Amino acid sequence: MRYVTPRVPLRPAISALPAYVPGARVPVGAAAFKLSSNENHFPPLPSVQAAIIDAASDVNRYPDMFATELTEALAADLTAGLSLEALAADGPITPEQVVVGNGSVAVLAHILEAVVDAGDEVVYPWRSFEAYPIVVSVAGGTSVPVPLAAAGGLDLPAMAAAVTDRTRVVMVCTPNNPTGSAITHTALEEFLAQVPTDVLVIVDEAYLEFVRMDDPVDGLAALADHPNVVVLRTFSKAYGLAGLRVGYAVARPRLAAGIRSATTPFGVSHIAQRAAVASLRAKTELLARVETIVAERARMAAALREQGWDVPDAQANFLWLELGARTAARAAEATAAGVIVRPFAGEGMRVSVGEPEATDLFVKIAAGWR
Ligand SMILES: *Cc1c(COP(=O)(O)O)cnc(C)c1O
Repeated sequence: MRYVTPRVPLRPAISALPAYVPGARVPVGAAAFKLSSNENHFPPLPSVQAAIIDAASDVNRYPDMFATELTEALAADLTAGLSLEALAADGPITPEQVVVGNGSVAVLAHILEAVVDAGDEVVYPWRSFEAYPIVVSVAGGTSVPVPLAAAGGLDLPAMAAAVTDRTRVVMVCTPNNPTGSAITHTALEEFLAQVPTDVLVIVDEAYLEFVRMDDPVDGLAALADHPNVVVLRTFSKAYGLAGLRVGYAVARPRLAAGIRSATTPFGVSHIAQRAAVASLRAKTELLARVETIVAERARMAAALREQGWDVPDAQANFLWLELGARTAARAAEATAAGVIVRPFAGEGMRVSVGEPEATDLFVKIAAGWR
């Protein structure tokens, strides 16, 4: 008889997980534009680099566990952005409402760990950010993906209808990754009016700074009006700190305290904390770069539409091209021609907005596909 050594079982929810597919890594020395991860193509500002270098001399110490300076700077920055009416009605955003983490994906995981019990349902749009099904499963929840509406938009009525008494959380990704379309604030408010107040609604605003539309979502206003809202934001995209991993949630104090209890101790490094604070100080310069990216997005979308592509409204730093069954082959051709994109096999490709030279090259490649 053969003796079989018993193996450590993985939780079924973990064995069943799809692997996270990161944007392709550009091989060293390759002459390719990396438009696959929605990164900011601008290098860190000199002032931010100086903060990073300065912080390096303290890494023998643990970071500030509560990221006090960053949390206070965020609360002050968010408060400074409030309208006078909002400030008078709801007061400032306080540091106790802000919870930072090792990228907003980690913050999202901590939020779910704080509120989701085994089998609780989490409703989210799909196709959307590919971390969602992973963090839901890891937290022990049950995913309830709701298909997107036409043109890659969130189907908020269908999402509201998917809420049952087993639902603990709903995720609203706006602008939606990877399709780029965003909902209006009016639509968000109509949606929130239909969701029970004991169901958490996470408004993932990773691309907030790139939105240029009428009636844009104001996550902080939604938070002021609805105690079950949590706003999720990141330094990875507009602020260009993807490599340092800093994101944060803004919530009512009781929920924020719960999320903080679930966070990894010392999760945000000292270097990341200092870089994020320096980035808030350099906000004007950084938002000027965002303006450049927004203009480049318009140029790229116009060039593609002129070729006859049906490019959905793009409110983030990427465009979506629906290519169906041809997606994988087209993505490989783009890579071979020097532009790395993010394919979603059978659906379409997401192309980040980067250098003007990258736009020109991608537009040329796409012309060859018509
Ligand atoms: C990129 C992205 C994030 C940010 O992730 P970080 O962990 O902060 O780098 C969050 N949500 C969505 C939808 C994203 O596309």
